[in-house]
Amino acid sequence: MAGRNFLFIPGPTNVPERIQNAMHISQEDMRASDFPEFTLSLFADLKQVFRTKHGRAFIFPSSGTGAWEAAISNTLSPNDKVLMSSFGHFSHLWVDMCQRHGLDVHALEVDWGEGVPVEEYRRILEADKNREIKGVFATHNETATGVTSDVAAVRRALDETGHPALLYVDGVSSIASIDFRMDEWGVDLAVSGSQKGFMMPTGLGLLGVSQKALEAMASARLPRTFFSFEDMMRVNDDGYFPYTPATILLRGLRASLDMLLEEGLENVFRRQHRMGEAVRKAVQAWGLRLVAKEPKWHSDTVSAIYVPDGFDGNEVVRHAYRRYNLALSVSLSKIAGKAFRIGHLGDLNELMLLTPITGAEMAMKDLGIPVELGSGVAAAQEYLRSTSAQIRN
Ligand SMILES: *Cc1c(COP(=O)(O)O)cnc(C)c1O
Repeated sequence: MAGRNFLFIPGPTNVPERIQNAMHISQEDMRASDFPEFTLSLFADLKQVFRTKHGRAFIFPSSGTGAWEAAISNTLSPNDKVLMSSFGHFSHLWVDMCQRHGLDVHALEVDWGEGVPVEEYRRILEADKNREIKGVFATHNETATGVTSDVAAVRRALDETGHPALLYVDGVSSIASIDFRMDEWGVDLAVSGSQKGFMMPTGLGLLGVSQKALEAMASARLPRTFFSFEDMMRVNDDGYFPYTPATILLRGLRASLDMLLEEGLENVFRRQHRMGEAVRKAVQAWGLRLVAKEPKWHSDTVSAIYVPDGFDGNEVVRHAYRRYNLALSVSLSKIAGKAFRIGHLGDLNELMLLTPITGAEMAMKDLGIPVELGSGVAAAQEYLRSTSAQIRN
């Protein structure tokens, strides 16, 4: 097919040329004497993106799922009680992983379209007088539904009940895209991956780990080898890895961190917010509904959009791909077929964002969904035209 493929799924995201070029290099010796000069700055700058001064950064050759596993296996023991909530494909999968690791999982089922039920968490923490709950989990941005939760409020619930549990946050589709403050919010395990906000290929599991979590490691008895923080720490401080690191991806990570820090995280968040708002304006103009039930849940990195009854959202995705070479994203499990998703995170600007809006409009029209051609595009254009990408001081 002539012309390019347009990728607007919530990960992997578009890899900018600068990062591609940084990875277009020969293999190198990961035990070379000058390798640490390169790697040590990666840990330092990754900590800036996680917004932690006091914690440690870890880089595993894995996807985000591996970073989930690293977070739990290094800090918990079999039968430890953990408080979780499930409101989409990804929050559900983390629950499933904890169950398979033999944890005593207390998982609250929440309607899809809502996020972490902080008030219920607070009640449960308050009632946990014997402090049996060892971990409290929050999926910051549920990628399946386009729902962002209030992590700072989960921290307040822990603080106000004086509860000592560790706070685990899935930030795979939020960190480096949506405001995230590891130290300020007292996040103990912050989980991310390379192929979303970091604008890279899949292949790096990235974690921020607090001192409190590192202390918990001493008594945590879940088995870990590949994902052992201890093994990593033993050599990371000297700039090396316990097994072969993904050196090409580390070179890409260098370029990614440079781009994020040069733009400035505040500017990145603001740009992402405008991308989210522009898509929401389009959805409104189409007369359609987001899966996210209320504005407080709106995600700036992905929008899940219900199609009207009698239509199939996954057919919109299929048609957009086959006819227009546009990759939108299907809806999963509980809402499969009821919605489609537009990923709007990573290396994006205004005009790029108009493409999936245009394409979704055409695909929906082709399938008989009653949307007016140009309506969503015009609403997004008007919003983008009249707002600024830069922080105004
Ligand atoms: C993508 C994603 C994951 C899983 O990451 P993989 O890299 O696919 O293993 C986990 N949580 C959220 C919120 C995600 O968006």
